[in-house]
Parts: sequence; C-alpha cells; structure tokens
Amino acid sequence: MFFNVLFPTHLLATATLGRVSRLSTPWLVAGAAVPDIIDKPLGVSGIVDLYHTVGHSVLFLVVIIPIALYSNSGRAVAVGWGSHVALDGVHVVVNGRAIDLLSHGWPVTAPPGPPDIPSGSFFSHYLGSPSFLLEVVLWLLAGLTLLYNIRPDLDGES
Ligand SMILES: [Zn+2]
Repeated sequence: MFFNVLFPTHLLATATLGRVSRLSTPWLVAGAAVPDIIDKPLGVSGIVDLYHTVGHSVLFLVVIIPIALYSNSGRAVAVGWGSHVALDGVHVVVNGRAIDLLSHGWPVTAPPGPPDIPSGSFFSHYLGSPSFLLEVVLWLLAGLTLLYNIRPDLDGES
C-alpha cells in the first residue's frame, strides 16, 4: 500500500482555499480530484504498479498549463491539481520518505518501492504517522475557517 494524503483531505483543502481566494471552489475541488481519479484506477487494475503515476507527475503540466491558460475555471483546476501534488509531496517528506517524491517525475523517475508494512495494519500505521497529524491540522483549519466564516475582503472594500 502506497501512503498518501486522504482523498477527502485534498478536497477539503481546496474547498477551504476557494473560500479565501477568488478562485472557483467547484473547479478547485475538481482539480484536486484529478490526480487520484486518473492514477488510482491505473494502480488498482494493475496497468501500472504504482498509485502515483500520470496524474501526479510534473510531466502532466503539459496538460495542466494549457488548461490554466484557457480560463479562470481552468486556472482553478490547475491550482487544485497543484495543491494535490504539493500536499502529497509534503506528506511523504513529513513521513520521512522523501525518496517517494521520485513518483512525481513518473515515468522518468519512480520510487524504489512501498514502505514495508505488514498487511492489515495500514490503518493503525497511518494513525501513527506524522502526516496524519498534518491532516488533522488541515481539517482543524478548515473547520475554523467555516466556524468563524473567515472570508478575506478580496475586493478591498471595508
Ligand atoms: Zn495523490
């Protein structure tokens, strides 16, 4: 099992970003979903032996950059995609597996292999990982943003 940020955390992070920016929240969230929507089926079906490939690769920028240049919605999709890839990158570094950043260069580079965790203990291992705490902080920040209705005055009016 390859560890990564929980899918709902990616969506929540971009939904929160949508509240505090001018970018479209639905398009941000859609962009944040793109890497896993592309890569999970490829990994699960066995087409590739990793769960971070095409959609998580910086080479995917050849698709993302034209989308970003097309419209404001495209720009939000691109930022959502970038936030997903960046959060996954932070995740592996925080967990002491910076070598897994090599998956972001797929197919040119690839990580050496998944961490050696006994089967069935994924969830308990995940709960003890440093990145789980990072995800808790992200959820708390999102909750505070909603609870206190934090929305910056993006128009400069007071
Ligand atoms: Zn991911």
